[in-house]
Amino acid sequence: MDEFLRRTWVQVDLDAIRHNYEEIRRAVNPAAGMMAVVKADGYGHGAVYVARELADCGADWFAVSNIEEAVELRRAGLPQPVLILGYTPPQLAGELARHRISQTVFSTSYGEALSKGAVEAGVAVNIHIKIDTGMSRLGFFCQQEDCAASIDEAAQVCTLPGLVPEGIFTHFAVSDEGEEGEAFTQHQFEQFCRAVDALREKGIRFRYRHCCNSAGVLCYPQMNLDLVRPGIILYGLAPSGKCKDVLSLRPAMELKSVISMVKEIGPAATVSYGRTYAAQNPMRVATVPVGYADGYPRLASSKTRALVAGKPAKVVGRVCMDQLMLDVTGIAEAREGMTVTMFGRDGEAFLPIEELSDAVGTIPYETVCLIGKRVPRVYV
Ligand code: PLP
Repeated sequence: MDEFLRRTWVQVDLDAIRHNYEEIRRAVNPAAGMMAVVKADGYGHGAVYVARELADCGADWFAVSNIEEAVELRRAGLPQPVLILGYTPPQLAGELARHRISQTVFSTSYGEALSKGAVEAGVAVNIHIKIDTGMSRLGFFCQQEDCAASIDEAAQVCTLPGLVPEGIFTHFAVSDEGEEGEAFTQHQFEQFCRAVDALREKGIRFRYRHCCNSAGVLCYPQMNLDLVRPGIILYGLAPSGKCKDVLSLRPAMELKSVISMVKEIGPAATVSYGRTYAAQNPMRVATVPVGYADGYPRLASSKTRALVAGKPAKVVGRVCMDQLMLDVTGIAEAREGMTVTMFGRDGEAFLPIEELSDAVGTIPYETVCLIGKRVPRVYV
């Protein structure tokens, strides 16, 4: 690794991503294609590197959240079909078509605007109709028994000029909640199937029907349909504590830093802003150049641990913007320049990202996404 990178960095193990892909591929119905979700810069891992690896593994599609992310994949030379799951300004219909990017259409007004944009640009845009079976987010509202009006609207949109219906999908709200989520996930699936059938009766057919996120892939194999849309499990993380151990996944991301200074502090010395931590006895404190500007949350102050020489060291005092302090009193090996693992593996020791995420009341999804832009990603 270049020496200038050795301040704070994210280590991404592309072999782990390959391994996870292969595990997922084995679990998914062979007839279903893989739409790998690489939005949010590949969940913070680096979308282009991850997508190249996954393309090499045989991924059939990529899903992203917006047009910038889709165009980034195209500029990197990835030829696979790409679906934008979220909103694209309708006036960019020409760009969508030019880059062969498929767009989610989730309402009549959006469909009409996109159709207008496509006609004005003289192009045809491939679309995937989104059915809202339980998120109340994007989609034609189909949560209740009678969805006839929404189906009529979706059917109407599919006939608009400049739009080419290619796929139809929905998104699960509680597929990661184990048994408690089963009834509602089943309900969502049935609502979705009903919508697909009703549209077929109106003469509208879709080549791609899809609904399974990671938890769907893990826990609802009977719902694979034509494509699956795993995100978090590709990166080796479980969607939740209730939905894990189904596949043998390998976390791909580790957050590393170095010790910039080690000092002995006397009893009653306080550590960091606000003086919230006071040494009870003489102790050794290591300063580490990682802080909330790197995505290591301030809420972690005095709550989390890092690994130094394979041993856990507590974060003491407030996490600063660019630095934090560790108690390395019991770690004789701790010295300046030594690598620190904020999460990930250090020799035999492993500090799961869940420990940090739990401590600050969030989920690993957010932790990986919030790792700052200034933190270089190093691929191993
Ligand atoms: N599909 C849609 C529509 C999503 O919004 C997401 C992520 O939020 C995914 C699939 C992937 O979800 P997960 O990372 O839980 O697999």
